[in-house]
Amino acid sequence: MNRKAFTLVELLVVMAIIAVLISVLLPALHKAREEAEFLSCKTNLKSYGQAYLMYMEDNRGYFPHNGDWLYATNLPGEYGPWRFPDHEPDGLLWPYLGRAGDVNMCPTFFKLVTSDGWAPAGTEPLYSYAVNGYLGGHNPNKGNFPWGFMDIYGIWKESELGRPPAMVSSVLEQGFGPPHARYGINDNLFIASWNGTGDDRIDAFGAWHRAPVDDPKFGGVSAAVFLDGHVQDVTWTDSFIFTWPERNTRRKH
Ligand SMILES: [Zn+2]
Repeated sequence: MNRKAFTLVELLVVMAIIAVLISVLLPALHKAREEAEFLSCKTNLKSYGQAYLMYMEDNRGYFPHNGDWLYATNLPGEYGPWRFPDHEPDGLLWPYLGRAGDVNMCPTFFKLVTSDGWAPAGTEPLYSYAVNGYLGGHNPNKGNFPWGFMDIYGIWKESELGRPPAMVSSVLEQGFGPPHARYGINDNLFIASWNGTGDDRIDAFGAWHRAPVDDPKFGGVSAAVFLDGHVQDVTWTDSFIFTWPERNTRRKH
């Protein structure tokens, strides 16, 4: 018998081993790539947090106006032109973000929104983060945010907070419906739902990092940057708890 050539069985065994190796290595590679994307996303948030804090330093402690923080010029019917490539960010934080234009996009969000997203043909997602709408409802130069409830709930300065800087996120990701079926951003400010439970996931942390296959939009984790500059992982159920600010004066809400 010629032992120099592979028999068919030997060849099949080798192929089976290779197939097993691939099936073991591919998910690991996929996971490593996703983790790298998540890290890049958190680095973006860190940059946003620093820009946010620098803005406050230069503006007597005022938060950047939550309607103007990224885009000062809005389009009719589109508050925050998040998916129009010829619309350059020109908002209050932009000078502080400097040339770091790439900080606007979570790489994972980009993939999701272009495959299963609320981004019609001919448009391209430009940013994936939203600012805490409970903060900065006032701009010293422009007055109050046009929506009435912002005058009631909007916190303008850090000194108004009862428990600074705990548990207040300045920039975060946003999942958007309706009914939260596709990925997208409806505007660039974020007002988490009151109880953060049930089916109201419109303004919620987009917890698509490390998400299980059976709940790819909300079952994983997101990240948020807090007012002390630290970035941490959050789940979508944290959306309200971590964004609702407590005032100096005790009030019911
Ligand atoms: Zn992300």
